[in-house]
Amino acid sequence: MKLLKSILAIAVITAMVSSSCTSDFSENIQEKSQTSFNKNNITLSVKKSSAKNAGSLSIFQELNKKLAGKNYEIAQVEIYTAITEAADIHAASILPVPGASSVDYRTGFRFIPNDARRDNRTNLTYVTVSEFATSANGIVSEEVFDAMYNIWENETNCNNVAIDKQAFDLATDGLPSTILSLNGGDPLGPIADHNVIGYVPAFIFEEIGAPPGVLAVNFSFAFLDEDGNRTDINNDGKFDTSHTETWFNDSVNWSTDGAPGTVDINSVALHEFGHSVGHGHSGTLLASFDENGQFTGEFLQFSPTNVMNASYIGIPKTDLSGDDNSIYCENFSAWPYY
Ligand SMILES: [Zn+2]
Repeated sequence: MKLLKSILAIAVITAMVSSSCTSDFSENIQEKSQTSFNKNNITLSVKKSSAKNAGSLSIFQELNKKLAGKNYEIAQVEIYTAITEAADIHAASILPVPGASSVDYRTGFRFIPNDARRDNRTNLTYVTVSEFATSANGIVSEEVFDAMYNIWENETNCNNVAIDKQAFDLATDGLPSTILSLNGGDPLGPIADHNVIGYVPAFIFEEIGAPPGVLAVNFSFAFLDEDGNRTDINNDGKFDTSHTETWFNDSVNWSTDGAPGTVDINSVALHEFGHSVGHGHSGTLLASFDENGQFTGEFLQFSPTNVMNASYIGIPKTDLSGDDNSIYCENFSAWPYY
């Protein structure tokens, strides 16, 4: 497995380093985050700071150029981080690619039932890559991924859509990654609606401009028409989702209980897969600051506490809140009767 990871890593790094925008993108995040950080004393909206990042996503524009000829493009990149100190607060972001609709508690695009471009499926599907499903610190996670998709499928108030695991074999199917396949050849493209790549080396996260300590990234792709415009074939005011792709940072000290000093993979996977089924972020981050505007290390929490809060603050959460449920039901209560 290590060898496989190394080979893939070398392939992708070769392609991505050639993009001159990589380091600029990372610096822009830091700079813009710092600017907004000193403006608020107590209540910090992560959504606000992420909107400021919208103009600095040239690397994703570059990646979208490499998707030329495909009928989809990267529509949103959600970067999930843990907050452990004040400087981390604004690193947590939903990053809309320029041209995407505004960041919201729902994404600006949705899967469409029976979409011919998705083989007329009424259900949603996902694949996991077993070879990438164990973290560097030994957390075996394929069953975690399955369990977290099961929560979205069966533990909401609107269990109208089946989210089925699709059979997958890396040796014969190839890597189900759109992003990691952009190495000069044809992208392999999606294999399922949700493509859970698994644990990816930290430096690959750096290549897409993710901040240090990033936990996971979720990419959402939207369908394009022949002219390269995003489609809304069912006229629901949302662009049509093509597929999603999820990575987890292999260098994080993962656990399955979120013990101090570790990060609970259950909580992070449930959050990421929430993005895959169309959630944005919800809840307001609250923290305390002294008279100089410095974070005191106290009163760091979200209100309300949701799976889809914008950052991981060290408290595992795998039970869906009222917000999590209502947002899910807005997306799926009518499924598949559009
Ligand atoms: Zn998120």
